[in-house]
Amino acid sequence: MIFQQLEHDLDERAARGLLRQRRTLETPQSPHIIVDSKPYLAFCSNDYLGLANHPQLIAALQQGAQEWGAGAGAAHLVSGHFAPHQQLEDRLAAFVGKPAALLFSTGYMANLGVVQALAGKGDTVFADKINHASLNDAMLLSRAAVKRYRHADLAQLAQLLAQTKNGRKLVITDAVFSMDGDLALLRELLDLCERFDAWLYVDDAHGFGVLGQQGRGSLFQAPPPKGEGLGWGSSPRIIYMATLGKAAGVSGAFVAAEQAVIDTLVNHANSYVYTTAAPPALAAALLQSLQLIEQGDALRAHLHDLIVQLRNGLSDLPWPLMPSETAIQPLLIGDNRQALALSEALRARGIWVAAIRPPTVPQGTARLRITLSAAHSAADAERLIGALHELAQES
Ligand SMILES: *Cc1c(COP(=O)(O)O)cnc(C)c1O
Repeated sequence: MIFQQLEHDLDERAARGLLRQRRTLETPQSPHIIVDSKPYLAFCSNDYLGLANHPQLIAALQQGAQEWGAGAGAAHLVSGHFAPHQQLEDRLAAFVGKPAALLFSTGYMANLGVVQALAGKGDTVFADKINHASLNDAMLLSRAAVKRYRHADLAQLAQLLAQTKNGRKLVITDAVFSMDGDLALLRELLDLCERFDAWLYVDDAHGFGVLGQQGRGSLFQAPPPKGEGLGWGSSPRIIYMATLGKAAGVSGAFVAAEQAVIDTLVNHANSYVYTTAAPPALAAALLQSLQLIEQGDALRAHLHDLIVQLRNGLSDLPWPLMPSETAIQPLLIGDNRQALALSEALRARGIWVAAIRPPTVPQGTARLRITLSAAHSAADAERLIGALHELAQES
């Protein structure tokens, strides 16, 4: 019986400490939430700037719904492309210094669509081994040949690129690795792409809004030298993707690139062509979000202070913090059940930190993925630091 097989598989996962389960929030996204009628201090959202429940975004969403209705009613290529969508695409392209941009309903769909539209049979996709699951799925769907390189191993990537003589080459990478929090060596990756005539596709889900001047993202981390235009980040070889449901606080994603790339996506990215456009009211809210991001230097400075505070406060625990300068601060536990037990012990103290286990991360590297938000206070961070020290003494 098929159900018995499924139940057997689920039981086995549970026995290994790997069963995934959801919890239902009874309040809006924030560091202070209620789950099962109990208050929690949460360190597991990707709402890095605390915009998900920002009054100005809520007002823009309400106003957008008044003006444009609840739903788009059609795909972008039929009759679902509205003025706020177009305005948002224009603003996003200008913000990240690219000629054109295209909205997708989610980052997952953007990755599927871009890789499938730009690489196919006879082409090769090169991917960092710890890329996000959506990039991994995207390369399989594309039917291109796949070559994965060890995390951040540029020498291995160079070797693989040199061995590939025919077809289009596409290097795909997270800009901020989502489970480790470290940064891709984008500039060095671009140099390799230039040497071997490859495209570079950058997934900046965790950098947009947070990193770079005014939150413009990972391509803007180093200020461009005077007289050099926008610097290396403006290379036409780079195809940039960022999501709009994390720091931007709403939902969706965009791809920014040369016009010919964007036109190709409009024609060939199935996850763009064959799906209903996101509600135009979301685009209206995102226009407001973009303004808050641009003006968000104080939020980013506060987030940076929290990162420093947490890293200093946790440096003497028996479990090491992974080397990350971003709002993603994983505490490496190793054993699946111990990671889960720590997460549960924190929860008993009213603190919510997600335990991340295989297959999301490699075997033996289960971790507590602590994420910080500008909505946290220094006292919030101190409470987590104190609780982890108590648990370290008990274990
Ligand atoms: C979250 C995430 C995505 C998916 O974006 P959604 O908009 O949530 O579908 C893609 N890539 C990375 C690196 C992510 O962290």
